[in-house]
Amino acid sequence: MFEEGKVSEIAPGVFVRHAVDNCTWAVLDDFVVIVDALEQAHLADEVLRHIRETTDKPLGYLVNTHWHGDHVACNIAFAAAGATVIAHESAAPDKSGKGDGRPDITFGTSLSIRGGGRAAELHHMGGTHTPGDIALFFPWAKVLGVGDLFGWGLIPLTQITDESVANLKQIMQRLLDFDAEVIVPGHGPTVTSAHLQRFMEYFQTLLQEVPAARRAGKSPEQIQAEMPRPDDMLDWWRFDWKHPHNVEQIARQCA
Ligand SMILES: [Zn+2]
Repeated sequence: MFEEGKVSEIAPGVFVRHAVDNCTWAVLDDFVVIVDALEQAHLADEVLRHIRETTDKPLGYLVNTHWHGDHVACNIAFAAAGATVIAHESAAPDKSGKGDGRPDITFGTSLSIRGGGRAAELHHMGGTHTPGDIALFFPWAKVLGVGDLFGWGLIPLTQITDESVANLKQIMQRLLDFDAEVIVPGHGPTVTSAHLQRFMEYFQTLLQEVPAARRAGKSPEQIQAEMPRPDDMLDWWRFDWKHPHNVEQIARQCA
């Protein structure tokens, strides 16, 4: 159940503050790992209070799944509260010292953070939503954070090309291979692998049908009108505007 600002423990030691901009934190044995830092800096105190209600362990790390404004706004506050900021090396080329919200640590391919018996695994999944997308896996909890690689039906690509589509398919398969029980997207309710699979089927269908309709002389607006949301996706979060947006994007880019 999605309720803005509500915190729930989605697996042992893994909490999500559900919101338009999700914030996840995992309690390792020695410290806390936070995933993403929202779009509104003024929410930092509230999120830190929520974290304090679930654990008294120190803040260890803040991982930004990618370097977009709606994922990094509380970086300065979380860093001031003790978190070391981690992002992909492509995300912040002007990396500098501690405390200014920019990454203290960057990495290329993967990074494992051990806090006693529990670990957080960070994997670079870039070249899809942004060059620096990171997925985080918490193996003991079987929770996977995917940032905006899954956008509740929103196509995560800015440019739809054969190459970017092939890359997205590969990334999605890598995400499925974690065999996670709960997947936390950057925005909206948590999902399961079935949602990722359904999205890729849906995307594939659009990639066939929308360019075909364009070639038959239909305008993007006509195609939107004639192609409603699939019945089984009607309850997808904010999909009422994402679906027509997707149709329009393919119509304009893949004519
Ligand atoms: Zn985002």
